[in-house]
Amino acid sequence: MVDLQSQYLRIKQEIDAGIQEVLNTAAFVKGPKVTEFQTHLEQYTGAKHVINVGNGTDALQIALMGLGLKPGDEVITPTFTFIATAEVVALLGLTPVVVDVEWETMNIDIEAVRRAITPRTKAIVPVHLFGQCANMEALMKLAEEHHLYVVEDACQAIGAQYTFSNGETRQAGTIGHIGCTSFFPSKNLGCYGDGGAIFTNDDELAAKMRAIANHGMVVRYYHDMIGVNSRLDSIQAAVLDAKLPHLNEYIRARQKAADYYDKAFRGNDKLLIPGRDAHSTHVFHQYTLRVIGADRDQLREKLAERDIPAMIYYPVPLHQQKAYLDPRYKDGDFPVAERLSACVLSLPMHTELDDEQLAYITSNILDLIG
Ligand SMILES: *Cc1c(COP(=O)(O)O)cnc(C)c1O
Repeated sequence: MVDLQSQYLRIKQEIDAGIQEVLNTAAFVKGPKVTEFQTHLEQYTGAKHVINVGNGTDALQIALMGLGLKPGDEVITPTFTFIATAEVVALLGLTPVVVDVEWETMNIDIEAVRRAITPRTKAIVPVHLFGQCANMEALMKLAEEHHLYVVEDACQAIGAQYTFSNGETRQAGTIGHIGCTSFFPSKNLGCYGDGGAIFTNDDELAAKMRAIANHGMVVRYYHDMIGVNSRLDSIQAAVLDAKLPHLNEYIRARQKAADYYDKAFRGNDKLLIPGRDAHSTHVFHQYTLRVIGADRDQLREKLAERDIPAMIYYPVPLHQQKAYLDPRYKDGDFPVAERLSACVLSLPMHTELDDEQLAYITSNILDLIG
């Protein structure tokens, strides 16, 4: 599914030099590399503030803590996503309210969000699933009408560009009040361990979240609020700082592979290619087909026999996960998400796919579905 080894070997010198620099200075935590990477990421994303943290899940948790939400407050998320999006809501004693997604883009359905808003709703967490921005123009307008916070889960979408109807373009994670991303190794900008970042243009929120990520501390050993311990270590920052200048070329490599897949499968009546949102670029964290009129699980098994990995992201929507079962929800309540869980299939997607591999993958898929 990914090839992190080949990617490393192509930029080995830059990575090794960055790591060596950290080893030489022994500034493993809160070293200058972390600040350098922060500045470079602020320049790249256009976010006024970047706060580096330990992982993408922490980023989401610290964002919600920064908003000062209280138990009982409702937070709206799509039901078709990775668990972390709702996990942090539940962990903080807030109430996750899940909504359905769109069939084409697989992103949060804005009309469903509108219907889910109650007087207790405080925030919306859209997920830019698989690397394409949710319908942020409509979502921000809705949030403004109802005085709600928007925390973008941009863990899969760093570098995606969203263009508003007035022509203004912004990066994924820098549109809402707060944005969160992950540097998990397989993410589009991945480190060699765990890492994450929070984006905001709000000075006050930035200062508060920075303190929360550091034990609620502004002045050393004086704790103004309850915080957590979540930081990006210097070695990971060195890896990320070496990789960031390559991110746009990595995105192009993913888009090129996606174009190959699109071309091979477009018009096929058993395989639907990922739908595109006219306002967003797609950075293809995943290339996800919808398999209709063919047996998805059987196709996956047969592909495995031919050494082609394929994954199901995600097999169970949130409202059907054991830990999140809730009497408010029953099977059938979110038909699009349930249908997607039954038919999605993600193909190998990374920066090192060449035409030979893509030809092998696509011809075998077409051969197997007949
Ligand atoms: C990866 C991911 C996260 C969590 O990031 P970690 O760094 O693994 O904690 C959250 N949300 C989504 C949509 C993700 O893909």
